[in-house]
Amino acid sequence: MTLANLQSQPGTKDILPEEAGEWRFVEGTARSVCAQWGFREIRTPVFEATEVFERGVGGATDIVQKEMFTFETHERRITLRPEGTAPVVRAFLEHGMGSQAGQTKLYYLGPMFRYEKPQAGRQRQFHQLGVEVFGAAEPGADADVILLGLEFLKRIGITTTSLLLNSIGDATCRPGYLQKLRDYYRDRLPRLCEDCQRRYGRNVLRLLDCKQENCQREGEKAPRYVDSLCDACATHYEEVKRLLSGLGISFREESRLVRGLDYYNRTVFEVTSGALGAQDALFGGGRYDGLVETLGGPATPGVGWAAGIERALLVRKKIGLAAGKDDVQVYISPLGTTAEGKAFEIAGLFRAAGISTEVEYRRRSLKAQLRSANDLGARVSVILGDRELAEGVAAVKRMEGEGKGQETVPLGQLVEVVKKQLGGEQ
Ligand code: AMP
Repeated sequence: MTLANLQSQPGTKDILPEEAGEWRFVEGTARSVCAQWGFREIRTPVFEATEVFERGVGGATDIVQKEMFTFETHERRITLRPEGTAPVVRAFLEHGMGSQAGQTKLYYLGPMFRYEKPQAGRQRQFHQLGVEVFGAAEPGADADVILLGLEFLKRIGITTTSLLLNSIGDATCRPGYLQKLRDYYRDRLPRLCEDCQRRYGRNVLRLLDCKQENCQREGEKAPRYVDSLCDACATHYEEVKRLLSGLGISFREESRLVRGLDYYNRTVFEVTSGALGAQDALFGGGRYDGLVETLGGPATPGVGWAAGIERALLVRKKIGLAAGKDDVQVYISPLGTTAEGKAFEIAGLFRAAGISTEVEYRRRSLKAQLRSANDLGARVSVILGDRELAEGVAAVKRMEGEGKGQETVPLGQLVEVVKKQLGGEQ
């Protein structure tokens, strides 16, 4: 293997130290919002038996047909998870979580894998935050998960978004609607893209959300599902809309929104951002009342969504919110052999006080060390010379701002003095 081959794979990205702070902020916010909503974390393995997705996501979907990373192992075929809901349902059943009283609310955060053409906002390994509610068929669950998703975005500073809403009915009204769609598209088929021609037979709903210009034009007058909903589905949809309106959440009804996965029924939704390009969805989801049964469990309603973390980070960057690198606060600069040992001891005191502290290991001139302190973005440098140490003092140098300068401080007061200098950062 040549060195050129030793590069990250297309559609994968290293998350470098400069970016890791952004990730921690967004993931930390996700965890705290979910916890405040009463959702508990679940972590499932990154691979599952392929059947979990074939049955869960649906054999006719793009994901199962062409986007899965599947491997033949000694025992069976396994697949790197392309999405989180089917594995969560598998775990929900395996651990008898459905037998617990009441509604079960779970969230997950982690990498997903899809063999897609890499482009801006679309990777082969990407990360999702997802939430799932099991056991509640009522519209309140739909509205609350949407509210949670919007609150997550708000807390990471993303407030300008559009919420698109639709209902894709249930087993009662679906066959009638699909027939209407097939009738509508039948004569138009020759003018549709190859994908749509292929989908016509097995997954005609997906024709509605094809992004090809021709297909969009041909679909302009397609019958809308909301006009074919059975009474129960229509009532459910009305109530979701009423709840959202009552919460002051604005939405746009989008009859073309059908989502790419087979398991959805009734409410489907997507939240998009104008700050993104063609791949503009921040989170998307819906109700999946039949999924638990499809995977071998008892009839259990469910609703949830998944959000792309990379896309949220992209929006934060576009709107100028992305935080810079994690700067170290204090840089300790030992000059001399006695000072070297003492430096670690003093660093320990700062760290115990919650102050991030770096000790210079390399024996270099004071000038070179201060340059490093600057490069690291340190706010304060503590200079330890053998002579000063013998007198029980050190030099504290402010690296920036007003009062940039140096003072001599007794070792016993170092933490206190530096804390004061760092001021509001603590
Ligand atoms: P889905 O699981 O397809 O409903 O996607 C849910 C969310 O995950 C989307 O709204 C995106 O934010 C994100 N997402 C989906 N696929 C990718 C991908 N290939 N790369 C990056 N983000 C993705």
